[in-house]
Amino acid sequence: MTAEFKVERKLFDEVMVPCYAPMEMIPDRGEGSRIWDQDGREYIDFAGGIAVSCLGHCHPVMVDALKAQAEKLWHLSNVMTNAPALRLAKKLTELCFAERVFFANSGAEANEAALKLARRWAKEVHGEEKSEIIAFTQGFHGRTFFTVTVGGQATYSDGFGPKPGHVTHLPYNDLSALSEAISSRTCAVMMEPLQGEGGIVTPDNEFLQGVRELCDKHDALLIFDEVQTGNGRTGTFYAYQQTGVVPDILSTAKSLGGGIPIGAMLTTAKLAEHMKIGTHGSTYGGNPLASAVAEAVIDEVSKPDVLEGVKVREKWFRDGLTRLNEKYDMFAEIRGKGLLMGAALNEKWQGRARDVLIAAGEEGLLLLVAGANVVRFTPSLVISEEEVMEGLSRLDRALAKLTAK
Ligand SMILES: *Cc1c(COP(=O)(O)O)cnc(C)c1O
Repeated sequence: MTAEFKVERKLFDEVMVPCYAPMEMIPDRGEGSRIWDQDGREYIDFAGGIAVSCLGHCHPVMVDALKAQAEKLWHLSNVMTNAPALRLAKKLTELCFAERVFFANSGAEANEAALKLARRWAKEVHGEEKSEIIAFTQGFHGRTFFTVTVGGQATYSDGFGPKPGHVTHLPYNDLSALSEAISSRTCAVMMEPLQGEGGIVTPDNEFLQGVRELCDKHDALLIFDEVQTGNGRTGTFYAYQQTGVVPDILSTAKSLGGGIPIGAMLTTAKLAEHMKIGTHGSTYGGNPLASAVAEAVIDEVSKPDVLEGVKVREKWFRDGLTRLNEKYDMFAEIRGKGLLMGAALNEKWQGRARDVLIAAGEEGLLLLVAGANVVRFTPSLVISEEEVMEGLSRLDRALAKLTAK
């Protein structure tokens, strides 16, 4: 076999575990918010690798950091520390409430660390009894067995045998349900400050404040999963910074690396003490290659003009989608914050988010869904006006075809 041979989509079915259903086209290269497939066809990318490619594809800042580190040192393991990881950790602590950082390789792993820390803290400070994790229906926290069990979709966690125990699910944005359920046995409340996978659902600020107060009252930890909302996505470095509610533990991944796999759990110095030597670990977590790229990414994303630019771009999307809705009457609501936007389908179009995604793909536009009824937009935070307008006009063509059927 030659080193390189042209692949076709059908090879996926022959060699891959069938847990995904990827599109027909196979991307070959990307630049900014454009992707070209193997046949040279060009696409506008409003999906951003699911809120990951925050600087678009192959941004020079990321490429330079990757190349420089690639020629220096890739990997060590946590038997040694390294300069890129320490610099990245220092900067993360300067950008938010956190004083201590644990590096992982994905969102699920960052959340797994968050949950294990909460359980360990509760056991050491309060005893075995305090082990309940309260989370919310439609929440999403990853696919490891603990995180998927805490996530609020039983279809994802069922069918794998006995689940990690003492996890309670409540309706999101319902303070009275939480106030009834929470008790001295509650170890932590875990939530997204804006639900992503669950359909782009923004909670009321009173709910967030109420959750914090109830956690304080019952001495439970508040864990914010900012894997999707974090790293500039909503217009502040972390979404909680717009709410006045500060968590005890925060998980971050996706846009943290801009495309290189990295995640982190952020917490206070006091809580971090409970993760003593040997309590948790990761072979790759905080490796120099990923850390160097993430450092370059957060240096760029945390610039005030980039964060301000997210709000400008939000308006382009909001206005554009509102105009399309006036033309085609498909959406009940355009919602979300910053560049984590959802167009919720109206009564007439219920269940057809995937049809919109497919129609857009045919016009050369990459979108996402969040459930069956919400079309999701998580583009690069630095997407150009020209790319946004071109993408919206492709969406216009896609919706014209879809509504004419
Ligand atoms: C994507 C996501 C995760 C899981 O991240 P992975 O890197 O896929 O493990 C966890 N929480 C939220 C809120 C997410 O959006």
